[in-house]
Amino acid sequence: MDKPLKILLLSSEAVPFAKVGGLADVAGSLPKALRQLGHDARLALPEYGLINEAQFGLTKVLDSLPVPAGSNHELASIFKSTVEGMPAYLVGNDKYFGREEVYGYDDDGERFVFFCRAIMEMLKKLDWRPDVIHCNDWHTGIIPNWLKTIYKNDPSFAHTATAFTIHNLAYQGIFGPELLEFAGLADYGLIPHPTDDDLSRVVVLMARGILFADVINAVSEKYAQEILTPEYGERLHPILAQRQDRLFGILNGLDYEVWNPATDRAITVNYDVDSLDLRVENKLALQREAELSAGSDIPLIGIISRLADQKGFDILAEASDQLMELDLQFVLLGTGEERYHRIFANVAGKYQGQAAVFLKFDGALARRIYAGSDAFLMPSRFEPCGLGQLISMRYGSVPIVRSVGGLADTVKDYDPTTGQGNGFAFSDYNEEALLTAVKRAVETYRIKDTWRILMERGMRADFSWQASAKKYVELYHKALEFKQNELDV
Ligand code: ADP
Repeated sequence: MDKPLKILLLSSEAVPFAKVGGLADVAGSLPKALRQLGHDARLALPEYGLINEAQFGLTKVLDSLPVPAGSNHELASIFKSTVEGMPAYLVGNDKYFGREEVYGYDDDGERFVFFCRAIMEMLKKLDWRPDVIHCNDWHTGIIPNWLKTIYKNDPSFAHTATAFTIHNLAYQGIFGPELLEFAGLADYGLIPHPTDDDLSRVVVLMARGILFADVINAVSEKYAQEILTPEYGERLHPILAQRQDRLFGILNGLDYEVWNPATDRAITVNYDVDSLDLRVENKLALQREAELSAGSDIPLIGIISRLADQKGFDILAEASDQLMELDLQFVLLGTGEERYHRIFANVAGKYQGQAAVFLKFDGALARRIYAGSDAFLMPSRFEPCGLGQLISMRYGSVPIVRSVGGLADTVKDYDPTTGQGNGFAFSDYNEEALLTAVKRAVETYRIKDTWRILMERGMRADFSWQASAKKYVELYHKALEFKQNELDV
């Protein structure tokens, strides 16, 4: 093995401290997987008010650390916690983080720039210096920018490379030009966008991460290609194109210990690929819980998702009446946009006994749906990686997906002539394509032996973190090479 690397992964959220979405799962799992490969990976995040200091045994390692903030300084406290052997640094400051939510404040730009600046200043004080600073999404996009500007000649970071991961390009961290002053970058000015005048007049933190990081990656290979196109590029595709030689794709992994039907305590009966006959008990229990008519032979389709446009709920809503004409049952668990709450509450009311809708966030019910459904639907408009399809395969629920982003990389359409494939996939973003895929799944479900093969393929697949963590190590080495080449010129 190459020499062990020192990696600091910065994220606005990370399991087990604070979770809003999939980013927290990645930020919690990847450093652990890197440590298992022998690298010294550590985590950094803000110390939000919602984090229980006692629960995580936080100890203060730096007190009253002065952090430049505009023309002044703000003080930060740096706490440390150790999670299963992994050190995590948490930036405390009541003004910015003593609040109950992670995101959604008017000063989010300042809050996350402050978090990043506190970590940079902390690193100058600690006797531990990372080889690579791994930034994630817009909240940390300012750091690669700083390493090429205000910290460029700082001996502490002379050999520090940066990696920047795009988890979802749709959220870009766009703020007024005054944020530059706060970030100490007023002398460097705004960065003109090659084609978009509006974006030339604002600070786009995501774009800064993309422009200045030594390497960039998106969370699946397909998404890394898609974001270079106008359709998926969210207006940043011309900027990504400038850095195409630095752009890679690495699929997220799934934590196979957290998601395991053989040990999952939330489900009715545990099972694995060798005891698949037991699985039906979970389906019958789910039918009872969801007040659907009982029956092991009717295909039951599950959906667990944020109710957002990204996830394809407009075409699902369009298709719902025709879907319900098919001989199937349907369980949806999700929260999000109000209009989808209304639409799907109506569907449940209209098709009692056939469709059930739970408009809430419920981790245990999610597990019962993964274990109790026959198929799992993700008709996403775009999907950087997607965890739902990986979890459903792990639990033996066959995925039906739109072939986009990480869904395209992980779910291959079943072809009855060759017998290849592990699910059902459609390409066009419309209700007919969705319906056709569901119909094909329902027809295949009737052929019990074939369906069982599809279930087993999903359950035997390996989408764990091990493979992905190795690819991140390669990515870090590339970052260090690019950095070294720059120093050599
Ligand atoms: P995204 O991060 O874009 O929301 P992913 O598919 O990557 O989508 O991850 C979604 C995760 O959140 C999955 O683990 C899914 O089971 C979970 N999830 C989504 N909505 C709910 C809900 N209402 N209740 C419980 N879990 C949910």
